[in-house]
Amino acid sequence: MKSLGKKFFLTTPIYYVNDVPHIGHAYTTIAADVVARYRRLEGYEVIFLTGTDEHGQKVLQAARELKVEPQEHVDKLHQRFKELWLRFNISNDDFIRTTEERHKALVCDILQRLHDKGEIYKDSYEGWYCMPCERFWTEKDLIQGNCPECKRKVDKIQEHNYFFKMGQYQDWLKNYIRTDERFIQPVSRRNEVLGFLDKPLGDLCISRPVERLPWGIPLPFDKKYVTYVWFDALINYISIHGSLNEIRRSGFWPANHHLLGKDILTTHAVYWSTMLKAIGLDPALNLFAHGWWTVNGQKMSKSIGNVVEPNRLIEQFGVDAIRYFLMREVPFGMDGDFSHKALIGRVNSDLANNLGNLLNRTINMMKRYHDCIIPEPTEPNEDADLKNEFQKGIDTVHNLYDSLAYNKILERVWHLIDVTNKYIDHQGPWTLVKSEDGKERLATVMYNTAECLRIIAILVYPFMPKSAETMMQQLGIEISIKEQGLETIKTWGGLKPGTRVQPGNQLFPRIEDKEAEKLLAAVEVAEKLDSKKGAEVMEEGTSEQVSIDEFMKIDLRTGKIIAAEKVEKSKKLLQLKVDIGSEVRQVVAGIAECYEPEQLIGRTVILAANLKPAKLMGVESQGMVLAASEGGNITLAGFDLEPGKGIRVR
Ligand SMILES: [Zn+2]
Repeated sequence: MKSLGKKFFLTTPIYYVNDVPHIGHAYTTIAADVVARYRRLEGYEVIFLTGTDEHGQKVLQAARELKVEPQEHVDKLHQRFKELWLRFNISNDDFIRTTEERHKALVCDILQRLHDKGEIYKDSYEGWYCMPCERFWTEKDLIQGNCPECKRKVDKIQEHNYFFKMGQYQDWLKNYIRTDERFIQPVSRRNEVLGFLDKPLGDLCISRPVERLPWGIPLPFDKKYVTYVWFDALINYISIHGSLNEIRRSGFWPANHHLLGKDILTTHAVYWSTMLKAIGLDPALNLFAHGWWTVNGQKMSKSIGNVVEPNRLIEQFGVDAIRYFLMREVPFGMDGDFSHKALIGRVNSDLANNLGNLLNRTINMMKRYHDCIIPEPTEPNEDADLKNEFQKGIDTVHNLYDSLAYNKILERVWHLIDVTNKYIDHQGPWTLVKSEDGKERLATVMYNTAECLRIIAILVYPFMPKSAETMMQQLGIEISIKEQGLETIKTWGGLKPGTRVQPGNQLFPRIEDKEAEKLLAAVEVAEKLDSKKGAEVMEEGTSEQVSIDEFMKIDLRTGKIIAAEKVEKSKKLLQLKVDIGSEVRQVVAGIAECYEPEQLIGRTVILAANLKPAKLMGVESQGMVLAASEGGNITLAGFDLEPGKGIRVR
């Protein structure tokens, strides 16, 4: 996709380097990645920034405990975030660390300018200091004498410090928030910030004496102090662009979105906006505060042992399933609840049944009816309803991106998947193929179906980039999604007839009940291990798993039933003759209570072909037919399209 000279800048917060990356970090970062990918498809030149916050008391303390230099400590720790973003397929364009020279240089430049302009002054200060929060509180802020934020004990401290004249911007800020609806979203959060601004806004203490905290950026005008972590950290959003002049020239300011958790909204809305005002830059266009995740209804906490570890989740479910789930499950801005059960539910219904099945059946029909070649549509002006539905969908999705309504975007895309599945059902290619007139029509139907899939793949791409690329591969389209861009879906017919589809693996295999049980058991075990409640459970939970090699030892094949009759003196057994291509097998199956022999003739089933022969009621059985069975109800396993005889099933 060529850049049209339009620029787009969005950020996640920089994560506290001491934190162990959890699902909350992944959530914000994936949300930003989705927007970055979409805007690139739209032709924007995008800078998507994330990074780590590396100064402050807690980092120093952790380094001291490990007996290493703080710089060595953060050099090592920040990697955990970088590695996780690589695994999650995050397309950030830059990664800022607050210990980098480029960052420190701009922080010093801004401090010096504000000091020269009289925006920073020195004063004696007495207040209640919360060490974990690294924040001063006034007497009236305290709740029962403790920190209002973390509820811990605070210390009374008196010292000289430097202050940023933040209070003078109170009225300007209130007005700004009131007049610009998009500035703080969602609206409920905006009202919270306005409520905060109803109280008098004081000046901001922006220094810490070196003797108390040596790990920070020294004030350029007084080396006996380092910069308060928040004042340092917030500047990350502009320090990647260079000097203040370069920032103004870059076209990447103001930021289109700062995505952040609701707990740090006030710091952004108040500290950052007034800092920008004092520097002479516009505030960011949009601060979007998202909610928090609980796990199975409980707050994530190390002591409960329910911290959802993203690396483990990736191993269990794959990157795209998690990316999809997090964006689909909860409206952005609201709190959400994470549960593995809900995740499995989404994988099976939305991903396997709807999207995966659509791709699968389309490719299979293309193979059977058109020798894998996407046909030229014979009636390019037909099917206006289908095309309109897609046009509307594409427009709606576009508008929803402005308000970061991820769940609604996905709902809309899944509506299009539905529409396509229904189109196939309604047109019935399997009937059309039987007559000459039908075959004329069939070419149009199959072309349109493939074009629907191409559009769906492009719309799915920001959320599930790998899966979308796989869809394109199976459709035989060699041009990458990035190159195709959104322009190619604005008018119907971007797909080239004559393209050869490439049948491939299932996009999202269903997680069957047995497997789901095992996954959930493994999750429970892992959580118990996290909370150190017993290591021996581990083996119990995983001993039933088989390796892929073990599984592949079972020779499953497709076979056609060519004869069926009841086994004498048995209510339950049928004797079948199953043609598996190379030979005909005699098989005894316990399905007589659910199937009449006549209705089975001609049916394709799955046969376990290398089982040791066994005798049932005196009749030899050379294999086993697969079926689902529950409470006397038996359903033979089969295929939605005819695969042919003797084909290996895996
Ligand atoms: Zn605190």
